[in-house]
Amino acid sequence: MTDINITIIGAGVIGLAIAWELSRKYENIVIVERHNSFGQETSSRNSEVIHSGIHYPPGSLKANLCVEGRGMLYDICKNNGVGHERVGKLLVATSEEEIDLLETLKKQGEENGVEGLLFYEPADIKRIEPAVNAKLAIYSPDSGIIDSHNLMSYFAHVAESRDALIVYNSEVIDIARKNYGFEFKVKGLDKTIDKFTTKILINSAGLCSDKIAGMCGIDIDEAGYRLHLCKGEYFSWNKKILNHLIYPVPHKFSLGIHAGLDLNHDIKFGPNAYFVDEIDYQVNTEKEKFYNSIKKYLPVIKLDELSPAMSGIRPKLQTEEEDFRDFIICPESERDLPGLINLIGIESPGLTAAPALALYVAKMIDSIYSNL
Ligand SMILES: Cc1cc2nc3c(=O)[nH]c(=O)nc-3n(C[C@H](O)[C@H](O)[C@H](O)COP(=O)(O)OP(=O)(O)OC[C@H]3O[C@@H](n4cnc5c(N)ncnc54)[C@H](O)[C@@H]3O)c2cc1C
Repeated sequence: MTDINITIIGAGVIGLAIAWELSRKYENIVIVERHNSFGQETSSRNSEVIHSGIHYPPGSLKANLCVEGRGMLYDICKNNGVGHERVGKLLVATSEEEIDLLETLKKQGEENGVEGLLFYEPADIKRIEPAVNAKLAIYSPDSGIIDSHNLMSYFAHVAESRDALIVYNSEVIDIARKNYGFEFKVKGLDKTIDKFTTKILINSAGLCSDKIAGMCGIDIDEAGYRLHLCKGEYFSWNKKILNHLIYPVPHKFSLGIHAGLDLNHDIKFGPNAYFVDEIDYQVNTEKEKFYNSIKKYLPVIKLDELSPAMSGIRPKLQTEEEDFRDFIICPESERDLPGLINLIGIESPGLTAAPALALYVAKMIDSIYSNL
């Protein structure tokens, strides 16, 4: 049985960012990942947008960590050659009712500390994006795009260079509280089971983070930790005529079917949002539905120019009845599980927030160690 100091479950962008941050100062850190490489789930199935922080309620972790994480992310990218571009975003209103919503969003963004937001009239919009049709837009200069694989690779390599260990093909299947911390079982590729002990356990298992909390003995319904899977699909467009991200006004469960760019300025539209019972990444939605949403702000688009591209699944705490749920980032000493930190519901803007969120978790670990 191996004794570990800090175990992180999950090598998505969140687990990797935490390992990157903690490995500055702590030794004997192990990331346990069930796949054969990092970033095989939600961290590689998203829009790869660096969000500015307009969309989240002031004071929430989503708002604060997004704004802080965005600044950190641009510095990390610039200083370490991680692919990115500060392309800017237009958040567009295509009807009179949506204009009121834009005003609310601009105020909210400013309250969250997002700088440089401007209203663009139709003539300003046409000047920078001639194909886009809107009655008014918010221009957000600090929104950008990032190569998320490149970012995760940077976090992983730096953490490993500081002696953190990433153990692949290893699924955590059981966890027991012990007086020194936790004992957990890991199933390997050949179905062998190994046991480990750890003082600190960080649950950043994405879509399975509620199940990991359950393995630790937490009643996930009573705690409000149960996740609901909310799928988001994308269609690609065979044209390259945009230079900015184009977002419609947000929908209750997502930021809306936007036009996203990759670093080659290839365009993908998505994600839509609907709840599912199982993880399945096939694109099932008819393209007419996408087309009807997109043509409101991009009338030049033709139905036969869209092709199914990819999908991702949001680990949502919010049910269909709820309006908003914040990230859960919770040290569990009050549940008599000292040394456990649960990260649950890390949906968007988790990629943008990752470095700030890692710093937030590191402060929790410092406080756990100072009380040992
Ligand atoms: C459609 C969509 C679009 C998005 N767009 C954006 C965007 O543009 N900008 C933005 O900032 N955010 C965006 N997000 C959010 C962002 O992608 C996530 O917040 C982020 O990727 C979450 O990372 P994670 O490490 O928590 O989860 P994951 O990437 O899912 O990583 C969790 C890891 O845990 C592992 N794991 C799970 N269970 C176990 C176990 N029992 N044992 C071992 N390993 C285990 C998994 O294999 C996985 O590798 C989007 C999300 C979706 C779904």
